Amino acid sequence: MSTYLSHLECSKTGDIYPANQIHNLSKNGMPLLARYDLKKIKSELNKDSWCLESAPGFWRYQALLPVANSASRISLGEVITPLIPLNKTVQMLGGKLGNIIIKDEGRLPTGSFKARGLALAVSMAHQFGLEHLAIPTNGNAGAALAAYARQANIKATVFCPEDTPKVNIREIQLQGADTYLVNGLINDCGKIVLEGKEKVGWFDVSTLKEPYRIEGKKTMGLELAEQMQWTLPDAIFYPTGGGTGLIGMWKAFSELKELGWLKGKLPKMIAIQSSGCAPIVDAFKKGLNHANAWDNANTVASGIRVPVAIGDFLILDAIRQSNGFAFAVEDEHIIEIRDMISKEDGLLLCPEGAATAAGYQVALKKGIISKDEKVVLFNCASGLKYPMPKSDKKIDKDSAIKFTKFTK
Ligand SMILES: *Cc1c(COP(=O)(O)O)cnc(C)c1O
Repeated sequence: MSTYLSHLECSKTGDIYPANQIHNLSKNGMPLLARYDLKKIKSELNKDSWCLESAPGFWRYQALLPVANSASRISLGEVITPLIPLNKTVQMLGGKLGNIIIKDEGRLPTGSFKARGLALAVSMAHQFGLEHLAIPTNGNAGAALAAYARQANIKATVFCPEDTPKVNIREIQLQGADTYLVNGLINDCGKIVLEGKEKVGWFDVSTLKEPYRIEGKKTMGLELAEQMQWTLPDAIFYPTGGGTGLIGMWKAFSELKELGWLKGKLPKMIAIQSSGCAPIVDAFKKGLNHANAWDNANTVASGIRVPVAIGDFLILDAIRQSNGFAFAVEDEHIIEIRDMISKEDGLLLCPEGAATAAGYQVALKKGIISKDEKVVLFNCASGLKYPMPKSDKKIDKDSAIKFTKFTK
């Protein structure tokens, strides 16, 4: 096993950094992006044979991934996540049958797409011999780090806001990470991780503060392209927090394009946020390249409650380059849509995933997209991790049951 990874590049200045060293941010505090020898890939592999059939899930895209040492490929049984067309709710959302497809990332290990990023970050940490990783999280990233770090026998310390969904906090703890609740938001947790770097010696695996989580998230784009026979949809709706997935997919598409393996045009990248935390939407509207920190961030879609994103300019670049859009949806709308798709189509989305469906409805109304366009909505986690409406209809087994009520 070898890798085509050639170097890392500062996402702001283009300065080059060696691939065989441990990195966090660039010298000027910007995310580093992995670069591959695409010419060599093109000369040695081709579109129909480049995927490694024997590898689980996204590991099949090894040629465009950074892990060089097969013993460092940390796996928990990744799968290719399914594309599921919405059927009954398509009309209710205003769309056309066949044109709304959900990519259900809830099927991955630890029940969210954070598995993609953390599998790569932990594998690279293993390759570099790192012994202790720390992360700020709204829940799903912490769970994925905990699980992959255990699998790699690396110590993990996790900080999450104290109002993170209970299931998340418990799954992180149960999967062996030292877990702490912080009376603040994810950026407050991030400050603790940063401060502990010198004092404890742990390695910071915050979103985009190490170079490989984005390489894992990039596989959403590679996978989608392969699943759609190398022709992408007209638009991708993405629930945007730190933005790794959106930036990562855009990076994947540009790599595939450069390799000449993609047909047709690239999709519009549409970033959806909650109106309770919408810094990227605000910056997009104002034509800014960086977002202002969002005060009093609050939303049921905990995965996108990110008031400050270090990769804000990369998110905004990807949206603009793709002729995309950024807008916010209300929490009530998110829950209404989650409940509707669950009841009608039997698909229990997470609130972040439901936000993309709510966003689709808004986008149609605003004329940002038309119903003739084919769209993919990302459901980023299992809906089972989030609070659900209660169900309390009872039957007394000892009294006469009125069976007529079941026919209503
Ligand atoms: C982390 C997360 C997001 C946001 O993903 P980014 O790529 O960091 O923007 C959205 N939904 C869920 C469920 C998440 O866990």
